Amino acid sequence: MTDQGKPEGNHSAAIQNLLRAIPKVDEFLGWLDDTTQGPLVLIKDAVREVLAAKREAILAGHSVKKSDLLRPELLVEFNNLLSRKLSPNFISVINATGVVVHTNLGRSILPAEAMAWLQRVGSRYSNLEFDLATGQRGSRYSLVEKLLCELTGAEAALVVNNNAAAVMLALDTLAKGREVIVSRGQLVEIGGSFRIPDVMEKSGARLVEVGATNRTHLRDYEKAITEQTAMLLKVHTSNFKIIGFTSEVELAQLVALGERHGLPVMEDLGSGSLIDLSKYGLQKEPTVSEVVKAGVDIVTFSGDKLLGGPQAGLIIGKRRIIDQVKRNPMNRALRIDKFTLAGLEAVLRLYFDEEVALHAIPTLAMLTMPPEVIDRRAKRLLGRVKKKLADYCAVSVISVDSRVGGGAMPDQSLPSRAVSLHPFNMTVNDLESGLRKVKVPVIGRIEDDCFLLDMRTVADDEVSLLSSCLLEFFGADV
Ligand SMILES: *Cc1c(COP(=O)(O)O)cnc(C)c1O
Repeated sequence: MTDQGKPEGNHSAAIQNLLRAIPKVDEFLGWLDDTTQGPLVLIKDAVREVLAAKREAILAGHSVKKSDLLRPELLVEFNNLLSRKLSPNFISVINATGVVVHTNLGRSILPAEAMAWLQRVGSRYSNLEFDLATGQRGSRYSLVEKLLCELTGAEAALVVNNNAAAVMLALDTLAKGREVIVSRGQLVEIGGSFRIPDVMEKSGARLVEVGATNRTHLRDYEKAITEQTAMLLKVHTSNFKIIGFTSEVELAQLVALGERHGLPVMEDLGSGSLIDLSKYGLQKEPTVSEVVKAGVDIVTFSGDKLLGGPQAGLIIGKRRIIDQVKRNPMNRALRIDKFTLAGLEAVLRLYFDEEVALHAIPTLAMLTMPPEVIDRRAKRLLGRVKKKLADYCAVSVISVDSRVGGGAMPDQSLPSRAVSLHPFNMTVNDLESGLRKVKVPVIGRIEDDCFLLDMRTVADDEVSLLSSCLLEFFGADV
């Protein structure tokens, strides 16, 4: 930077000289011909940014030579920047993390059936809120309500933006200004700072914590019930396990307690599976229908966790309670759009045949994928890259554990197979960050100085793309 207060010397003259060599925006624009394509705003932005970066570099005393400011050099920088500005920001990546419900990578990917539905509904007018039988205004929820009831045994249902919204709406409707009793062992924080106590506070319900972190008994709930009590809440502790000397109250007991005192019982189920996945080797989690059957009045769960659909918050339960929730004006602010509805309906319909659901819904297919299938996929990738990458890294197939993700079944081990890369001429961290920057970014994980590509979450039709991304990155012949 300039030395304030000191006489300006040669140093500053050199800087002034360089600054003068930077072309003006209009001059730069005059250099462009019709090989430069794109919206004028973005072109001008790119020109300004290239020139501003030079100016800043000079003023900061970074080494900038006069030759860096010549037309061909500046044009190269401009063209690179413009092509970045013209490419979409929201792009697809290859999930080689082995985390199936990966919240940061979009959680659940949708089945082809759902995508076809989205395409149709998005490009045509639809009966979103139009009752074709009466010709009157209809309700968007009616498109999926019946399906949800049939699949879960609930009397009524509605859908909002996500499960956090579902919990908030339910509490706001049923417990605003009153008390909600919840066990200390269930005061969870879900990723992205969703904390049950905070949500309660926002909804205006007062939290009454009962029991101890590891043990809560029925009598703890019972003692806490007062005139002010609005509901008993159970939160599924999706993302952690308390082990050892523990005890939580059985849902059926909680329901019986609620009935004795005329209080609704709510369960925030979090992931909410419609299928009993323990039949397919995963651990036992209560299914949505089991919770409904236990007599819970209102159940909330996510559309894009174990259900494998689009982002949504599903609220199901007894008609009397759900009707109240439907009438809450806040509902309007949390409503889902037509794409979500289309995706959700398509996914729900797949559940009528469990075999079909396990096959067609990617989240379920990946969670129940036999290790041999993953192994074959890993070996296909190995075959495509091993020889060609021989100068750059050691490649092998190893056994790893995938994870369910989305805060579900935190201690579930899912035996899987990964392609392991141990680079020779760079650090494994450079490999990891470099692969994030290729045309189709590859996201994996580092373990023991190797970069691992867990093949559970890489689709069969992504293997050749993944191999060309690797070859391109290392500069090997494709
Ligand atoms: C994931 C989760 C939520 C939040 O659901 P979103 O669909 O992400 O809003 C709330 N409660 C529990 C128990 C969860 O597991």
